[in-house]
Amino acid sequence: MENRPVPEDFRFNKALGQNFLTDKNLLASVCKDAGIEKGDTVVEIGTGAGTLTKALCEAGAKVFTFEVDRRLEEIVKKNLDGMDYTMIIGDVLRMSDEEIKKIVPEPFKVVANLPYYITTPLIMRFLESELDYISLTITIQKEVAERLLSEAGTPDYGAVTVAVRSYCDVVLNRTIDRRMFFPSPKVDSTVITLKKHENKYKIQDRKLFRNLVKCVFSARRKTLENNLKSGFSLKKEQCEILFNRLNLPPMIRGEKLSVEQFKSLADGIAETLNS
Ligand code: SAM
Repeated sequence: MENRPVPEDFRFNKALGQNFLTDKNLLASVCKDAGIEKGDTVVEIGTGAGTLTKALCEAGAKVFTFEVDRRLEEIVKKNLDGMDYTMIIGDVLRMSDEEIKKIVPEPFKVVANLPYYITTPLIMRFLESELDYISLTITIQKEVAERLLSEAGTPDYGAVTVAVRSYCDVVLNRTIDRRMFFPSPKVDSTVITLKKHENKYKIQDRKLFRNLVKCVFSARRKTLENNLKSGFSLKKEQCEILFNRLNLPPMIRGEKLSVEQFKSLADGIAETLNS
């Protein structure tokens, strides 16, 4: 199944992002990127024709693979004949943590070659969950990867960057040329790994942190002080005290804050509002 992993008459569903990887060396490299070791439990999102599933099994993982397109079930059965894996026809975005926990033993690593439109919801679905994931290794559109890897104050740096990096470190693994997919999509892809950091930032109030990030980036041309006045009804003097404590210049824009500064500011706002 090197080049065409599906029968001649298979109609690729573009809306589901059906562009499959077939190169064995590349698939083995993606398993390495994910740090797969013998005995690891892996949740794969988007089985496709099972090419990555097969590579994961060969790397020694116990694979639980989720796919929404029922037509692929028989194809995968054929392609992975004799291999030990569990295929679930279902959408993890619509499943509860409890439903996933019933199927998959924790902790697990997530590996996914994702349709672009679900990239962010899918990442956040795991990051904000109660599920015990170790890391997410995902093949995503290059532009989305650049956003997640960007530095504070750059145009790519946004709410998603801060949200993701408040949970995980982001590692760039490799770029995949669009011609490596079958059929070829219009854009190149990037493989990144999100590695969960255990309480690196110990954020006290997640809801407030989320509101702060939203309030800053939905009006990123405003000064941070104005963001805080409109978003949290803080007074000028309260902002001044917070800014002094965090060593922030008075006219700073929120988009210049590092993830750590967002965390300190969110904690400071929580204290101010509770005092
Ligand atoms: N993993 C395979 C590979 O690397 O060749 C397939 C990747 S293909 C880009 C994405 C797959 O995800 C498609 O087979 C598509 O049907 C499936 N898919 C789309 N949305 C999904 C969802 N919400 N949950 C699970 N699978 C989904």
